[in-house]
This record gives sequence, structure tokens and C-alpha cells, in this order.
Amino acid sequence: MLVEREASATHKICGEFLSAETQGYLRRLGLDLGALGGHVISHLRLVRQKTIVETALPFNALGLSRYRLDEALLNHASRSGALLWRGQRASVSDIRGPVIDVDVQSAGTIRTNTLFLATGKHDLRELRRHPETPPEDLVGFKMHFDVDSAQRDALANHIELVLFAHGYAGLQRVEDGRVNLCLLAEGSWLKACGGSWEGLLEELLRTCPHLQRRLSNAVPLLSQPLTIYRVPYGFVYNPPANSADNIYRLGDQVGVIPSFSGDGMGIALHSGVVAATHYLAGSGAGNYHRQIRHDIASQIWRAGLLYRASRWAPGQRLFMGWAGLTPRSLSLAASLTRVPPSAVTRAMGLMS
Ligand SMILES: Cc1cc2nc3c(=O)[nH]c(=O)nc-3n(C[C@H](O)[C@H](O)[C@H](O)COP(=O)(O)OP(=O)(O)OC[C@H]3O[C@@H](n4cnc5c(N)ncnc54)[C@H](O)[C@@H]3O)c2cc1C
Repeated sequence: MLVEREASATHKICGEFLSAETQGYLRRLGLDLGALGGHVISHLRLVRQKTIVETALPFNALGLSRYRLDEALLNHASRSGALLWRGQRASVSDIRGPVIDVDVQSAGTIRTNTLFLATGKHDLRELRRHPETPPEDLVGFKMHFDVDSAQRDALANHIELVLFAHGYAGLQRVEDGRVNLCLLAEGSWLKACGGSWEGLLEELLRTCPHLQRRLSNAVPLLSQPLTIYRVPYGFVYNPPANSADNIYRLGDQVGVIPSFSGDGMGIALHSGVVAATHYLAGSGAGNYHRQIRHDIASQIWRAGLLYRASRWAPGQRLFMGWAGLTPRSLSLAASLTRVPPSAVTRAMGLMS
């Protein structure tokens, strides 16, 4: 049984960059990605002020909106036999025993002996995550744009990561020629820009000539931007000794990788597969959590290190200088922030 809060397709805040592992898992699950019309991304362009460094990615990524992907995945689950309940918010009331009480908005209490917790950034009251360090004062925004044809062509097959003084932005094409701008900025800077998306975007375009060029005649395609605040980047779930052996945490509930790595969906899918195989083998959530921590902790740690360096102006300069000298190092950074290939191969093997 799959309970989803949203009643119909919705936009989600996300860079909408599907890594090789994300695509591999989706295809392995039987989703026809080709039919969804994403945009192939083969190159990375790192931009800071007037400096641009470009390199080939170590894999072909795909730009595809969460609006389209998540809906296709839910429908696929339903066609594959899941009992799908849409427009229903779930909460849990009793998690102590072998039977868990899940309260579903309009259906009342469902008693289950296994729960796969995949609520993403939203914590259920009884099952809150407890990050070791408090989340930073960062705000995320996402907006889709229709840009002019010259800029659309310039973005063909590229993801652009644009570093600026108070954060960074990712810019890439998704399906139907739409362009996704997804950015993270310091909360204090948002306040200094008047506390609004419009103020922040205006200031960003004024101070960042590259984004100014890309978005000069752009038309926003969403009525308002998607936002997020205080994401617990770096969190990796460490099960307490007395944790329930029948609650499996998936995706952002088990680990949160800095967004620039573009592998949060890969981690979510990997965790789903590893959890399912542990469940089917009867080895329990405790063993699953140890395995998944082993699979993703160093990837998240490395991404955190790069991310912290990029938050600091000398770090940004160092990063650009290093990337300028050896553009292939960007490709190496992209490889180091993915779910390790050995873990993916093992999980894929278990799927068969
Ligand atoms: C700014 C930003 C940019 C990112 N960019 C990328 C990127 O480019 N590529 C990438 O791979 N990853 C990216 N990520 C990370 C990625 O979005 C997440 O890691 C991934 O979506 C996690 O998947 P999930 O299944 O855990 O959660 P989600 O994808 O958030 O799914 C959770 C689902 O649970 C539902 N739900 C929540 N609460 C309830 C409830 N109580 N009852 C019922 N349903 C509920 C929600 O409606 C939602 O559908 C980004 C993250 C951020 C913040």
C-alpha cells in the first residue's frame, strides 16, 4: 500500500538532474524514461563571475521535471500492483510494538507490521530525524522558465552550476524546452533582498552577468516559485540501539546529500531497493540501516566537503582555479559524489 499526500501531479523543488544511477534504477524498475521526453545532459559548465570552466560529465544525465517523473513513477507503481492512495496525508500514532498504527486522513487507522518511511523532507511527528548539526540558514527556490531560443541552444546538453557570493544556482533544460533554475541562497541575503523571490532574482541577475544573459527575456512558467528552508544537508540516519526493526527509512529520511551533487534521487531509489531486498530476505530494518549507512555515508561526507568549500569566497576561487587547470577534476568530483558503483551493482544484482 502506497499513501501519497498529493492528489495529483505537482511540481517539487529539485534541480531535476537525473544521474546515471537514478536512470539505471528507474529503467530497471521498468519505467520507460525515453517516453517521458527528458533532455540529455552530457556536460557540466561551472561559472563564477566571468570565469567559465566546462567539462564532459562521466555519464549522460537527464533533465526531467519532477512533475512528470513522479507522476509516471506513481502510475507505474500502481500498474505494478501497489494499492495507491492519493491525496491522503499519513501519520503514525503507535510505533512501539510489532504492529504499527498508520493514520490515513480519510481512511482512519491502518494496522501494518512493516512501514517504509519515504516522506522526503517532511518528518512525521513520531519519527523525526535528529541531525547531528542544525541545518544552515539556507533557502532554496525553483522556477521553470521559457528562455529565448539562443539561450535555450546555449544550454543544450549542459548543466550549469553558477557560484555567487551568497549561494549557487543550477540551470538546465528539462522536457519540452523548459529551463529549470534551482538555487540555494543564504537566508540573511534573502532578507537583504527584501525577503521576496522577485527581490532576490533581481539582485541575482544584477550581480551575475551569466544568469542575466541566460534569463534576460525569460518568461516564468510557474505561478510562483517552489521554496524550501533549512534542509539538513549531511544528515545520515544512525539507528538508536532500541530502534524498531520494522520501520525502514528511505530517501531523505535516511540521508540528505547536498543538492549540487544531483544524486538525492539516486540515493532514494538505491535505499528503496536495498530496503526491499532486506525486507524480502527477512533480515530486518536494523541490518538494512547498517547497510545503507555503509553505502551512502562517505558519498554524503565528500559532497559536504565540496559544498562547504564552495560556500566560502576563497574556496570558490580555489575551486575555479583547480577546475580551470584540470577541467577533468570536475568530472572526478561528480564521480565521487555518487552512490558507489559497487553498491549499485550489488543492489541491481539482488533485484534479479
Ligand atoms: C534545492 C534542491 C535541489 C535538488 N536537486 C536534485 C537534483 O537535481 N537531482 C537529484 O537527484 N536530487 C536533487 N535533490 C534531492 C532530491 O530532491 C531528494 O533527495 C529526493 O527527492 C528524495 O526522495 P524522497 O523519496 O526521499 O522524497 P520526495 O521526493 O520528497 O518524496 C516524498 C513524498 O512523500 C509525500 N509525503 C510527504 N509527507 C507525507 C505524508 N505525511 N503522507 C503522505 N505522503 C507524504 C510527498 O508528497 C512526496 O511525494 C534536490 C534537493 C533540493 C532541496
